[in-house]
Amino acid sequence: MILVLLGPPGAGKGTQAKVLEEKFGMRQISTGDILRANRRQGTVLGKEAQSYMDAGTLVPDDLIIRMMEPELASNGSKLLDGFPRTVAQADALDALLKKNGAEPATAILFDVDFDVLMERLTGRWTNPRTGRSYHDKFNPPKAAGVDDDDGGPLVQRDDDKAEAIKTRLDVYDKQTTPLIGYYEKSGRLTKIDALAPIEAVSKQLLDLLGAST
Ligand code: ADP
Ligand code: AMP
Repeated sequence: MILVLLGPPGAGKGTQAKVLEEKFGMRQISTGDILRANRRQGTVLGKEAQSYMDAGTLVPDDLIIRMMEPELASNGSKLLDGFPRTVAQADALDALLKKNGAEPATAILFDVDFDVLMERLTGRWTNPRTGRSYHDKFNPPKAAGVDDDDGGPLVQRDDDKAEAIKTRLDVYDKQTTPLIGYYEKSGRLTKIDALAPIEAVSKQLLDLLGAST
């Protein structure tokens, strides 16, 4: 099963991906995490992606599609977190899965009010090694600045600053929201209420996927 987690930055995709990974053994593939790892390692891709990420705009489709091809080659259930983000990427995903003889991807839309996203993102703390995220107010770690799981340091992302957040939400609105219709018209979209507290969102997902896995 290839499940696209669709929703704006801060909707809770990464938070819930970790829950689903643990519960169902599905593998989270986060394009943002892969790109940030490439930047830390100083790869060519990391250097190419840098200016777009800092500005909060999208990395060009051809780079992202090339990066995702090997990730999608293996069998097994996957949670796509942050991909596809454009119609060109969604078309490429459909074509690739077809070529690999896999079932078409289905999408879950994290339906959320844009008003809550600024607070969610400016309060986010992330473990760069694992991608797990916390929140000052909504999901604080047991000790400030330290991951409950592995004791690793938590950092705030450079693009979780007000100016880049505004750009990212605008980019989502213009370039990613067409994917809602894209998956809806082929009967491949389910919506969940992502405005609810974290546990309540998890429950919706577990109920939804429990029935089909
Ligand atoms: P995304 O992966 O969609 O960008 P995250 O999962 O990283 O979003 O969540 C963004 C921030 O909001 C994190 O700090 C997270 O702890 C917090 N968060 C996630 N889901 C909720 C929720 N349902 N209610 C309140 N805060 C949330
Ligand atoms: P995220 O961690 O999903 O918030 O992504 C962080 C940044 O990485 C985005 O603002 C983009 O610059 C880049 N990025 C992540 N995924 C994609 C994608 N599918 N297409 C283009 N750019 C992406």
